[in-house]
Amino acid sequence: MESAQRTCPVCTGKKVKFLQTMDFARESHCILPESYRIVECNNCGFVYDDLDADEGLFEQYYRSCTKYTSSGTGGAGGLTMIDRIRYHKLLKWLSPFLNAELIIADVGCGKGGLLRFLRENGFQNLTGIEPSPGCVEVIRHQLKMDAVCSDIKSLNSTNQFELVIVANVLEHVFNLREAVKQLSKIITPNGMIAVEVPDASRYALFPHAPYYFFDMEHINHFDLNSMRNLWSSMGFEVLAEEAETCFPVEGMENPICRLLVQKKKRQKNDGTFGIPKSNTAIPVSQYIEWSQKKAQTLPDAPDTQQKFFLWGCGAYAKWFLRNKLSARPAGIVEVDTKKVGQNVDGCPIISPEMLMTENSEKTIVMISSVLYEQQIRKQLEKLKWKGQILSACRPREEQEY
Ligand SMILES: [Zn+2]
Repeated sequence: MESAQRTCPVCTGKKVKFLQTMDFARESHCILPESYRIVECNNCGFVYDDLDADEGLFEQYYRSCTKYTSSGTGGAGGLTMIDRIRYHKLLKWLSPFLNAELIIADVGCGKGGLLRFLRENGFQNLTGIEPSPGCVEVIRHQLKMDAVCSDIKSLNSTNQFELVIVANVLEHVFNLREAVKQLSKIITPNGMIAVEVPDASRYALFPHAPYYFFDMEHINHFDLNSMRNLWSSMGFEVLAEEAETCFPVEGMENPICRLLVQKKKRQKNDGTFGIPKSNTAIPVSQYIEWSQKKAQTLPDAPDTQQKFFLWGCGAYAKWFLRNKLSARPAGIVEVDTKKVGQNVDGCPIISPEMLMTENSEKTIVMISSVLYEQQIRKQLEKLKWKGQILSACRPREEQEY
């Protein structure tokens, strides 16, 4: 048993069991810690990232984060076919509790994809709440809907909602108990909160790539048990729950879980003590074991004579660069123009156009994105890339060298 730097965000416990160290290549201008431990709370069993950071750092990061306003990022609030499938499932699950007049807020709504979907399905009292001013602008002026520019910490009780949806947000939140307190401020006395998060108890059933579910942004690894612990210890009761899956991109299935809660009618004591322990660490450890084994099969840098580039500059690329490659790529290709010109562990981030000045049969591109491998392959084909293309996410034996 060890002491954590970050107290357990579910029960505030300080004693933890170590599960895994994560180490990522450092991106210039990125302020998130690139090295931290994944731990299990000794008191309540919650699995979370033990970081040398505070709430303020994460708030600063998300305020300056442009990723979720771009159209290409999954979960950015767009309304593609696969977004519709996810929203449809969410709506179906919530349907016993819904009526068209319900006053609904979507917290962390991005560009308002879910709000649009709800409007199409007859709901009229809809508000988006989102910290990114760019997204709020889109919702107000393009979608002509209500939007409040706020992060969870700054929520105030001016607006009261009968249903607050918080989808794919809480896994990013540093101080969960504070977030729950803030969210309870904006619901009516009978108001409900619907939460959706990745389901850590099933990471191992969707093994896309080693350590894929551990990135710098997802700092809480929930399952239904730890979600229940969080909400019930903060005075809520569970109305409904389900374990489901979603598709962040076509063909990539990820585990999620959902909880619908409402304030307990008679407030009992805060249930922090005697909290039932969740056993998420067991399936998470299985996923870590799988990752360790799989990581050994991944390709390394090509022979010294060959120039190579990575394509994809997300968490997986940073993990791969720091933990697997024995030589540095000549550059890392990234479509987000805001990143071009910066570097990761000293490797320059370049645009696809810059890569094309190196288009030759001798040059290799290693695709270092788990989610967008197929899209990147298509783009390389379109650009008439002459060199070899490898995947940094799949075993060496499965690929031609
Ligand atoms: Zn705990």
